[in-house]
Amino acid sequence: MLKQIFLVLCVTACLNQAGAQPVFREPDGGGYKTSFETATCLSHPERLRIDSMLARNIAALLKHEKTLTTAKATTRVSLAWPLKQAAGFHYDYLYAISNYVDHDLSYPNHVLDWNCGSHTYDDASGYNHAGTDIFIWPYAQNMMAAGQAEIVAAAPGIIIGKDDGNFDESCAMNGGQWNAVYVQHSDSTVAWYGHMKKNSLTTKNVGDPVAQGEFLGLVGSSGNSTGPHLHFELHDKNGQVVDPFSGNCNNIASYWQTQKPYYESVINVLMTHSAAPVMMACPGLDSIKAKDSFALNDPIIFAAYFHDQQAGQNTVYTVTRPDGSVFKTWQYAATNSYVVSYRYWSDHIPADAPKGFWQFKAANLGKSYVHPFFVMGVPTGISSTEAFSGSLLPNPANQALWLRLPEAAFITLRNMLGQVVLAQEYQAGQPLPTATLQDGLYLLELRYHSGRCEHARFQVAHRSF
Ligand SMILES: [Zn+2]
Repeated sequence: MLKQIFLVLCVTACLNQAGAQPVFREPDGGGYKTSFETATCLSHPERLRIDSMLARNIAALLKHEKTLTTAKATTRVSLAWPLKQAAGFHYDYLYAISNYVDHDLSYPNHVLDWNCGSHTYDDASGYNHAGTDIFIWPYAQNMMAAGQAEIVAAAPGIIIGKDDGNFDESCAMNGGQWNAVYVQHSDSTVAWYGHMKKNSLTTKNVGDPVAQGEFLGLVGSSGNSTGPHLHFELHDKNGQVVDPFSGNCNNIASYWQTQKPYYESVINVLMTHSAAPVMMACPGLDSIKAKDSFALNDPIIFAAYFHDQQAGQNTVYTVTRPDGSVFKTWQYAATNSYVVSYRYWSDHIPADAPKGFWQFKAANLGKSYVHPFFVMGVPTGISSTEAFSGSLLPNPANQALWLRLPEAAFITLRNMLGQVVLAQEYQAGQPLPTATLQDGLYLLELRYHSGRCEHARFQVAHRSF
């Protein structure tokens, strides 16, 4: 049995878009949420427990002369976004915001967020939501299981408390404790990062410093929580809750380095699927049915996952063939406003579809999104549709891919998850180690020493004949 490799090259240059006009097209399916069920993130007894635990820890740290910051710092802390995508994943965005701090101290059902809206909640016990709830979307349970959403320090500081070891698949109020990290900053403000995944917390200890952007733990659903999310809560030096967002109903300077808009209307990710995805009730894993490599005549689902999609907002979708020509283009406008929403359209790969890299694109509020997918026919070796200043040639004898470049360059090879599988200086005559690569799509980045940059995508498939 002879194993062969086939490679298809497609240079990602500025491809010409044909002038096809998008037609209106109703989705074949989808879903949305306009608000979220709430769970009082912290019970009053839990809050008291945490306050006294942090006070004890701070006293002990001061006693042992740990370099705890003092209230003397005059520069106010400036916060970076506390959520980051783990290496190897490729969503454009991975969150939406379900609730802000409640500024109306009456209760219940008296709510007011920083923008004078009602994107928050309170309850009959007198709890007014004290933090920002950032949940992960789409496929939150799957993201949590895969460790896709990392909680990182919004500002540098000292860890003054940790809670861990608690159940992390809550779907409702359960009265349990959460997993959390508490960080004190140089201006003596303190950030609480709650609902973390069990045993995912940083190995650093109470008293250790953390840098801005440093990993603290993974998003989970521990404690009172209806699903995987981060409850981010900021306290001033006197222990009072502060809302870091600046707006007409919270008249302060924003604590954020870059404050996100009240409605940040973006597409979190475009996907292609083999069939309609099935979303399961918490805590079940969703059946995503993601697929990026298709044969001729295969069914294909084109899906877009939004957050803060607004009524009337029009999105233009385009599917292009490997040569950049338009296969289909359509548009669809949201009929309502949603915190999160997704829409999908069913299609199939034509029997005479050209092989190579196709692109599913969306243009939304001036921003464009791209999801590449691959159409396979009979393997024929390399087909290049674009001028490329180097060359990529398969060598079936040793399953290697010969790369020839016109000048010195640094080469980086990534798989479709974005993971770097090779990073080195280009050496003439040295093959790329495709024999050891798994089947799939790869992105080759060429950073020439002269300063210019080129990208090429190719497919690796080890076929038995
Ligand atoms: Zn919360």
